[in-house]
Amino acid sequence: MTVSFPASRTRAVLKKLTALYADMDAAYTAAAAAAGLSCAGCAENCCTSFFQHHTNVEWLYLREGLAKLPPERRQTYEDRARDYLAQARQALSRGETPQVMCPVNDDGLCGLYGHRLMICRLHGVPNVLLAGMNIREFPGCGPCQRLTAAGKEAKAMDRTPLLRRLAALEMELWGSKPGRPPKVDLTLAEMIVAGGPGGREE
Ligand code: SF4
Ligand code: SF4
Repeated sequence: MTVSFPASRTRAVLKKLTALYADMDAAYTAAAAAAGLSCAGCAENCCTSFFQHHTNVEWLYLREGLAKLPPERRQTYEDRARDYLAQARQALSRGETPQVMCPVNDDGLCGLYGHRLMICRLHGVPNVLLAGMNIREFPGCGPCQRLTAAGKEAKAMDRTPLLRRLAALEMELWGSKPGRPPKVDLTLAEMIVAGGPGGREE
């Protein structure tokens, strides 16, 4: 299902999302410093992880980042995204979890660093999420788990308020229309190939 949002509302919500991302970055930086975690020189590039993004508002943010790129670079990422999907489909058809490098990763570095989405901003440090009456705990990435196993004390980052703000922005983008925004459950490659919640803008 494709869906469109008014341009003025989209601009206003994306501005708030930029502020939310700054708060996520600050929370992550503090948690990583407490855990002694640094991505510099990490041999386990987590950009091959297979995961999905879940909001229209972040999809629009990604589209905005792609639109700012020089056309050749954007084309490269789109071509890589199609290759990614083909490789991921093959792995899934074999019953395996795909382990394919993210299509916007350039030799280990994120080519959309300023426009990366929430999961990419928060992955790595130990964190907790309150879901209803349940607390879900995440131990952090492999290098972080090894640091804590070696005795490093690391207070878990609470993702709950950050996710609530993201959910509120998703609803603000939706506006006063009845119902709820269509659910998104897409890899970055799928988002790039599909173009945006409203389809491709050629
Ligand atoms: S988040 Fe963890 S696994 Fe990913 S690059 Fe940083 S240290 Fe490595
Ligand atoms: S968007 Fe950037 S940080 Fe996220 S997986 Fe891709 S290359 Fe890595």
